[in-house]
Amino acid sequence: MRTERTAERFFHLHANCFCVAGPINGLIYDLGRKRFYAIPAVFAELINDANGKWVAAFLETLPSEVHSRFWEVADFLISNQIAGLFSASKVFKELPSEIDGPGHIQNAIIDVDEQLHDFANIVRELDLLGCEFLQVRSYSDALNVQMLDEIALVVERSGLRGLEYIVKYNAGHSQEDLSKLLLDHMIISKLVVHSSPETTAVPVCYPDSPVPRREIYYTVEALRSCTDCGKINRRSISPPSAQTFFQLKRVNGCLYKKISIGADGEVRNCPSSSGSYGRYSFGTLSKAIFDAEFRRSWDVHKDQISTCKVCEYRYACTDCRVYLQNPTDILSKPAKCCYDPYVGKWSEETGKMVSDHRFQAVT
Ligand code: SF4
Ligand code: SF4
Repeated sequence: MRTERTAERFFHLHANCFCVAGPINGLIYDLGRKRFYAIPAVFAELINDANGKWVAAFLETLPSEVHSRFWEVADFLISNQIAGLFSASKVFKELPSEIDGPGHIQNAIIDVDEQLHDFANIVRELDLLGCEFLQVRSYSDALNVQMLDEIALVVERSGLRGLEYIVKYNAGHSQEDLSKLLLDHMIISKLVVHSSPETTAVPVCYPDSPVPRREIYYTVEALRSCTDCGKINRRSISPPSAQTFFQLKRVNGCLYKKISIGADGEVRNCPSSSGSYGRYSFGTLSKAIFDAEFRRSWDVHKDQISTCKVCEYRYACTDCRVYLQNPTDILSKPAKCCYDPYVGKWSEETGKMVSDHRFQAVT
């Protein structure tokens, strides 16, 4: 839709929209609607330069051939409610930029292979530390549906707010059992079944409602151990919430306030981190998190990391600080990232670069 192109106005991005330029591509983050849009970097720079300025005065600073480029991008932004033209300069109310809650720990990962863990005590201790979210990943058939149900019950009785399961496909876990598990436990925010025969999302409905409320996500991708973690590809990046966006500007998106218990029962920052803070028993978690070495990567944020610091995805991509291109450099780019911002292309792409499109909603 073409907007009224009057230069006698102030141009402003809306308060919850941000434009991040990379070397080739730019990305507009719409935090309110959790969407983002890919645009060429030259347009992204133009938007950031114009933001908050009187359009007529701004255009006077540019060669006349660039004016049409400005109006082209302005039309797109205004029609998508990302920006507007205003008769008076706007001072938008600042978005709340709190990055976390008061807890010592924000999220936890517990890995399960052959050996089961003492979930009752672990969840009790996580709760005492103020942990909000728990992810349980299983690499074997050891966790059956009954156990998933029991863990969910324990989490529901705690102060934790969310539980994610990433479990191995097992022909013995019927879809009906897993659907019932989801419907019985609202605390389960995500259920992924890896190593499945096919990749598909199965909607789950409540008996009295035809509208699917939940989903079981089956994927052929295998999670054999914690060494399969840390992959960064197009599918692993989604438009962030405001909290994630600001968190990625200030602290580490993956390891900050995280704690884990590996399949071997050892406590670490994440299951793939080197070293160990002891085998889990009640109290081990509380002791580990006050160790300075345990928190070593917590404050490493995207604006410090090689390559990531210029990447337009940097405030959406949650990073990996364990598998690094240069393992001796804590500021090195994640080794398993398949995006090169200097080329503007994902390595799995077969040809078409994002910058081939002028403005594009990224889904
Ligand atoms: S730091 Fe890397 S390996 Fe560890 S949990 Fe995060 S993504 Fe996975
Ligand atoms: S270059 Fe860095 S910020 Fe960009 S996608 Fe890769 S890991 Fe994420």
